[in-house]
Amino acid sequence: MVILLVEDHLAVRLGLKYFLEHYFLEDSKVKVEVIEAEDGKIAIKKIHERPDVDVIITDHIMPNMTGIELVVWVKAHTQNIPIILHSTEEITDDRHKADIFLIKGDVNTLTQALLKVHNKI
Ligand SMILES: [Mg+2]
Repeated sequence: MVILLVEDHLAVRLGLKYFLEHYFLEDSKVKVEVIEAEDGKIAIKKIHERPDVDVIITDHIMPNMTGIELVVWVKAHTQNIPIILHSTEEITDDRHKADIFLIKGDVNTLTQALLKVHNKI
């Protein structure tokens, strides 16, 4: 499973990457690869480079491009790569544009969301 992780905060990105690589689906044989992007613009570049991305997890508040703006781009320009938006802020407008919205740090909901995506691959 190839996960594109979009997060501008280095420590948060590395922590989540570590969790996804070492704990997420640890009981299964699923191999997880995490591709990092520090903002939406870099994420778009990575999507072009890696057509095998299975799912995107994106932060909302980032320089250059917000998570919602990335969601809109992904919906318009890809074959429906599932996109999970998470934020520390309660985003009321437009959060429904993402396939799944969750509050940052809610690892259980994130895991459930990724399992749902994985079962569809
Ligand atoms: Mg941020």
